[in-house]
Amino acid sequence: MDLRKIGEFGLIARIRNRMPVRSPGVFKGIGDDAAVSSLAPGMDLVSTVDLLVEDVHFDRSLIPAYQLGRKSLAVNLSDIAAMGANPLFTLVSLAIPSGVSLEFIDDFFSGFGAMANAHGVALIGGDTSASPDRLFISITLLGEGKREALVYRHGAQPGDDLYVTGTLGDSLLGLHLARSQKGKTPSPEGQYLLERHFNPSPRVQEGRTLARNNLARAMIDLSDGLFSDLLHICEESRVGAVIWTERIPLSAPFRSLVPASPGKGWQWALKGGEDYELLFSAPPEKASELSVLARDWPCGLSRIGKIEPSSRGVVIRDEGEPVDPALLKGYDHFT
Ligand code: ADP
Ligand code: MG
Repeated sequence: MDLRKIGEFGLIARIRNRMPVRSPGVFKGIGDDAAVSSLAPGMDLVSTVDLLVEDVHFDRSLIPAYQLGRKSLAVNLSDIAAMGANPLFTLVSLAIPSGVSLEFIDDFFSGFGAMANAHGVALIGGDTSASPDRLFISITLLGEGKREALVYRHGAQPGDDLYVTGTLGDSLLGLHLARSQKGKTPSPEGQYLLERHFNPSPRVQEGRTLARNNLARAMIDLSDGLFSDLLHICEESRVGAVIWTERIPLSAPFRSLVPASPGKGWQWALKGGEDYELLFSAPPEKASELSVLARDWPCGLSRIGKIEPSSRGVVIRDEGEPVDPALLKGYDHFT
């Protein structure tokens, strides 16, 4: 069906009908000049926004609309998770080119709604516009947390252990497979990696558990790649760090399909973007408490390095030998 037939207000009504607000914190959702909602007493507001641009962040010929909707919210949930906060409300802005059908928008919101429901998030508004030729998606996610419990990038201290959830590199290899084997039926291992790229699971519960139990001193979610994102923690905390490549968690499908050359598996994992895992530092005295808690985490938890004094810099060690940082730069939109 043609979007022009229902128009902007028809589309908004359609979104509103498909996404009924179920959160008790929302007094006014879609349909007024602004939404009105409340936080529990004593909570601080935690806000994040992401912009996804067609052909920069996603390829409409590779990702189905349902998965795009799901992933668009997942990347914001991952940011809220990295603060140790609780996601609550979301707003979606869309700039839609004429080539996008109503079915596409319906599927987008089905996927978006599935991810929202899974995390108890209510859609409370947005904005809708036409676009000359590319699809733009901007998602705002609001959450709450206790100020003292939230985890920032700046709290790491020398001597802390460095941990990562899940496995790294799957998403980058999944994207590589999607591009290089477009149209072919993937093997079970390939399918796993494609899922990791197109359907990431934000570590919301894990982030909240870390914050609630005061276990992490600094935390970030991995969107640009382990090495690049670690640099953010080190800059904000004014510390150095060491990572041991042997400790980087790699999934079995990743190990079976990663090209033997160029580069070893851990290079993909260090550079790889869009893992949406959590990287955090914790004092060594919390190690046993952490390992007990992480037993309940399906994604698993790995200790991959240590925070060091800033004078040591940020070093990746492969079998003890420092790796040239030029090999490890992550994704940067402007370079
Ligand atoms: P305004 O002209 O004041 O920006 P709109 O007509 O754009 O108002 O929006 C009307 C209502 O519909 C508002 O509550 C707005 O938040 C909501 N809305 C608009 N676009 C979207 C969207 N893409 N997703 C969810 N809600 C939307
Ligand atoms: Mg508007």
